[in-house]
Amino acid sequence: MVDAKAIKDKVSKKINSARSKISVNNVPHKHCRMCGVNIDIKSEPRICKEITCIEKLEKQEKNDKMMRIMFFVFFAAIVAPIALQLLGYGA
Ligand SMILES: [Zn+2]
Repeated sequence: MVDAKAIKDKVSKKINSARSKISVNNVPHKHCRMCGVNIDIKSEPRICKEITCIEKLEKQEKNDKMMRIMFFVFFAAIVAPIALQLLGYGA
């Protein structure tokens, strides 16, 4: 005869483990932008406490700033003459 209780136990264990997996996935959390490790949802900036990640973020922010400046300069160099021409200057 099949042991119904044992099967029930097995099934409920499976359900519990599935539930706990789902709840773990649903816990609000962030991932470190650099290494992807789980970090606290309130972490700001969005990185873990590893010094390598902090350094990487600083480098990235510097690069971002540089890119923005370059973009602005490029934009001004291309758009300004066209705008001036459209406005009737430089003719
Ligand atoms: Zn990290």
